[in-house]
Amino acid sequence: MSDTKGLLIVLSGPSGVGKGTVREAIFKENPYHYVYSISATTRQMREGEVDGVDYYFVSREEFEGYIADNTLLEYAEYVNNYYGTPLAMIQKTLDSGKDVFLEIEVQGAMKVREKMPEGVFIFLAPPSLSELEKRITNRGTDSESVIIERMQKAREEIDMMQHYDYVVINEDVNRAVDQVNMIIQTEHLKVDRV
Ligand code: 5GP
Repeated sequence: MSDTKGLLIVLSGPSGVGKGTVREAIFKENPYHYVYSISATTRQMREGEVDGVDYYFVSREEFEGYIADNTLLEYAEYVNNYYGTPLAMIQKTLDSGKDVFLEIEVQGAMKVREKMPEGVFIFLAPPSLSELEKRITNRGTDSESVIIERMQKAREEIDMMQHYDYVVINEDVNRAVDQVNMIIQTEHLKVDRV
């Protein structure tokens, strides 16, 4: 029983699919076991978001500084903004035995997969594209042109689904949460981890 390292869990999938809702439910059930990786972004803060909680909101210049200094595990440009995962806390947290949870889009997830293939890569899929569009529209946070761009991205992202270890369809959020929990528990029991 040698391995007490945490798991790197990457929850990915199109914007609006409900990654945040699923992650929040999982954290609520087991608050001390997981650490959420707070991303940096150049996107404008939305109403209700808090700097340093939802994201680190930074300027393009600051973000380009992180890229130049190699302080990100991965980053991607998504609908005209940068999003990236700060590297510093990840290894430290995994070494402490806690699981690290990344909630990121597909290009970034594929870069993480190259660097940390031991991670668990879960794709959260919508029941259909029309349901996804409904969810993004009802969220009321994006303009019509941004919704069109996010839907275009969603189609490209769904095509990448086969590059993940697991696919969970978020039709019913409680069921999706149960399935993600089950995947995490199973991964912890893998013979090469115990
Ligand atoms: P939103 O603007 O809706 O908050 O995020 C847009 C997309 O970027 C979502 O799919 C979100 O999961 C993803 N995202 C958030 N943080 C990161 C990150 O650090 N890296 C990457 N590659 N994507 C991210």
